[in-house]
Amino acid sequence: MDDTWKLTVWGVRGSAPAPEPDYAGYGGNTSCFSIERGDTVVVLDAGSGLAALGDELARREVRRVDILLSHLHLDHVMGLFIFPLLHDETAQIHLYGRPGLGWALDSLAGPPFWPVGLAQCRAAVQVHEVRAGASFTLEAGGAPGLTVAAMEGNHPGGCCYYRLDWGGRSMVYALDCELEGDMDVRLARFARGVDVLIWDAGFFPERLVRGWGHSTWEEGLAVGRAAQAGQVLMTHYGRKQSDQSVQEQERLAQRADSRIQFAREGMVIRL
Ligand SMILES: [Zn+2]
Ligand SMILES: [Zn+2]
Repeated sequence: MDDTWKLTVWGVRGSAPAPEPDYAGYGGNTSCFSIERGDTVVVLDAGSGLAALGDELARREVRRVDILLSHLHLDHVMGLFIFPLLHDETAQIHLYGRPGLGWALDSLAGPPFWPVGLAQCRAAVQVHEVRAGASFTLEAGGAPGLTVAAMEGNHPGGCCYYRLDWGGRSMVYALDCELEGDMDVRLARFARGVDVLIWDAGFFPERLVRGWGHSTWEEGLAVGRAAQAGQVLMTHYGRKQSDQSVQEQERLAQRADSRIQFAREGMVIRL
């Protein structure tokens, strides 16, 4: 088997989906990324972008999916309940997230908020609570394992950032993130030498609001440079970030450093 891994962008929005035409260029779904090779599929966050990924996995008859959740704000989990594999009795779904994940998902899914809860799903669902500082290996799909490390982030209510390492390649997923105190130094250490750093560019630099738990592409670039990351992939655009304004920021950012890319739905990066 070709040993190239495929990173695919399925959702780039923060807070809420943006279905209007002004957002269609970069995409209107909330946070979701996949990293895969053959039948090994690891998903980062279960925003509304997970629905389209789920259709694709159902078509390919993939049977096991490992989903790493950064936190439980709705924009990061709203796609979980429409994930087709949850209703397939031959599927195995492993969900990873901060302590309390199982209880919180049981409270969120099911009446009165949703017709069925995780307990009624036909797939075999296993919930794994991940503590900050932990690392573990995913043996998903029979491909050589990916090592996952977790770091406590800075975001209202808490958040978990993940580093994935496999066969000499690596990436960090750091959503949602506000740089405060020594978070930039700790993140640069956590992301040391990664091929891709996926970053929360929820605010444009001139409009950054402190205390809301998000950051800017300039801050992501600084962390990426300090970490010597190969690429920094910006995402988690808010409603004030229409296609036109994201495009303007992308031009400015790429002038500052060519290793920056702004994520758009359907984008594929080979690693
Ligand atoms: Zn978010
Ligand atoms: Zn959040």
